[in-house]
Amino acid sequence: MDKIKMTAPIVEMDGDEMTRIIWQQIKDELILPFVDLKTAYYDLGLPERNRTDDAVTTEAGEAIKKYGVGVKCATITPNDQRLEEYKLKKIWKSPNGTIRAILDGTVFRAPILLDRIKPVVKTWRKPITIARHAYGDIYRGTEYRVPGKGKAELIFNGEDGTIFREIIYDFEGPGVLQGTFNKDSSIRSFAHACFRYALEAEQDLWFSAKDTISKKYDGTFKSIFAEIFEQAYRAAFEKAGISYFYTLIDDAVARVIRSEGGFIWACKNYDGDVMSDMVSTAFGSLAMMTSVLVSPDGKFEYEAAHGTVTRHYYRYLKGEETSTNPVATIFAWTGALAKRGELDGNRELVEYSKKLEAAVLQILDEGICTKDLAGLYEGLTPRPVSTTAFIHEIRNRLH
Ligand code: NAP
Ligand code: MG
Repeated sequence: MDKIKMTAPIVEMDGDEMTRIIWQQIKDELILPFVDLKTAYYDLGLPERNRTDDAVTTEAGEAIKKYGVGVKCATITPNDQRLEEYKLKKIWKSPNGTIRAILDGTVFRAPILLDRIKPVVKTWRKPITIARHAYGDIYRGTEYRVPGKGKAELIFNGEDGTIFREIIYDFEGPGVLQGTFNKDSSIRSFAHACFRYALEAEQDLWFSAKDTISKKYDGTFKSIFAEIFEQAYRAAFEKAGISYFYTLIDDAVARVIRSEGGFIWACKNYDGDVMSDMVSTAFGSLAMMTSVLVSPDGKFEYEAAHGTVTRHYYRYLKGEETSTNPVATIFAWTGALAKRGELDGNRELVEYSKKLEAAVLQILDEGICTKDLAGLYEGLTPRPVSTTAFIHEIRNRLH
């Protein structure tokens, strides 16, 4: 069989632990036999990040800017325990945070649905994609405990001499105080990323905040979205037959639960953090969640939503067979290859990606799965297998 040719590379970012093992198996079994793979390879495994003083992560981020498409394996975000375990020079920052800062992107998370596994919410028939604004608010907030009686003020000292000053509260006793911020530029990038993604996915876009209570702060989010929609996207949305709709966060929550899915839900940072865990759990499993970072100038980085599955890795190191679910990592590859194919007008590559996804879904719908999914099936007794056996089955089906 002739292998499918690629004209431009994708940026390949290798990672850590169990997902690094799976990464290699996916390439060897499911990609290299079919595709003449071209990648710009960056090893974001923790030892290499440590060796290069984390320069490799920045280089990978810059490479995504250059080539436009990347695929990333899960990586360890170091902490004190990892500092010890890997004898690190220091506690390096989260690679995802570094890459997100370079691309100024928005993270979109969507579940992979199966006919045989029903979401907890019975009305959900189509995926719900959460778009989380991954910048500012309480994640960059300043806060402290107020020790006792006293006046708290909110002060802005403008460079041009403008001063804003408002009393927050005249404390009669101890309490708490918090300052948060966001920037118009970041909200604009977020809005553009959401509108573009909706057009790409041909799905409605919902955006929710709490502008009835937070008239200036959340009100700014609402008006920036409205303004950008009118200026740049209304016509394209009408042509695509999709809609943009703003509603209050509490109303959105109620509508989401009653909906049948099939839309993108844009959330402020905290709402997105909370709601993405709720949505993924209600759909079944974290191991079936895909994630893509989209920059405002249209660069794409695909990954799985889960981590490096450390507990399975230690079993693997002891020589035990594991049944780690590779589906989200496979879909990260197919997402990246299909996007590469689309950008380069390479129809064969797009078709190959779709066929690989279809092979995975067929196998799963027949009940061949990894252990994490075995308890979730309805109307069929599943046959859980090891990761290696699962990937073999997919390869045979793909052939
Ligand atoms: P995790 O790797 O997502 O795993 C947590 C648990 O979820 C696993 O122990 C496993 O449960 C289950 N699980 C997750 N993915 C699975 C899969 N593909 N197949 C089967 N089961 C799966 O999260 P963690 O253990 O909290 O974090 C491990 C490391 O990953 C940390 O160093 C963290 O920094 C990193 N991390 C990286 C990313 C990223 O790169 N995007 C994201 C999150 C975490 P059972 O053990 O019960 O089977
Ligand atoms: Mg969270």
